[in-house]
Amino acid sequence: MNYKDFDLIKLITRIEGELTNETPLRIGVGREPPLGAPVDIAVYRVDGKPCIPGSSLKGVFRSLAESIAASKGIHVHSPWDKEEVEREVKSGSFCPICGIFGSTELASHIRIYDAYPKDDSARTFTKTGVSIDREFSAARPGLLFTEELVVPNVVWSFRMDVLNIRFLPEPDDGDPRAGLLKSLLDYLLKMGISVGARKSVGSGLVKLRQAMWFIYSLEGGEVKKVSEGSLEMSK
Ligand SMILES: [Zn+2]
Repeated sequence: MNYKDFDLIKLITRIEGELTNETPLRIGVGREPPLGAPVDIAVYRVDGKPCIPGSSLKGVFRSLAESIAASKGIHVHSPWDKEEVEREVKSGSFCPICGIFGSTELASHIRIYDAYPKDDSARTFTKTGVSIDREFSAARPGLLFTEELVVPNVVWSFRMDVLNIRFLPEPDDGDPRAGLLKSLLDYLLKMGISVGARKSVGSGLVKLRQAMWFIYSLEGGEVKKVSEGSLEMSK
């Protein structure tokens, strides 16, 4: 499929809802703490507020979409597989995953916004550990470190926009990306996904809830809302 359709905005689907982290969450800023931070690895903040960057969410969404695609028998490649990406450009035929999330050669059809706490419940706590695991051993073997995590059950804002893919209320049968997006959202509602560090110990399990969808079209240069509804789990 040729997904280079950015010159024509036919359809914009916006999803708005809430994310909740059911387990402690650490979206860190890497090994270097901000100057003056009392912990080695601080929670990522913007203007003093904890933040789940849209780029982090997009990364885990892509991985999940790859798993879903593979389970549907769709050929999947790594986003860093240069040969495959080049092959797609030459043939003008992109895989559904690149057709949603983009590649180095194709713009993304999805935009996920940074998520912020919806109220003041986003307290944090610090944990002390010994740097024996992979993440730290190279830098400081055997040393104590502290990391900051966001407490569970914080409610975060969630917003994403999808361009020119008709997947709601029912996915377009002729577009393999549509079914993938529908399954992805369904998974986020039912199972949730792991975001941030410490996934192996269950940290950062995030679920989507209270989500609404809005479909806009561009008619005569004006954006018009065509339809809307609430996002329901499929049975
Ligand atoms: Zn691809």
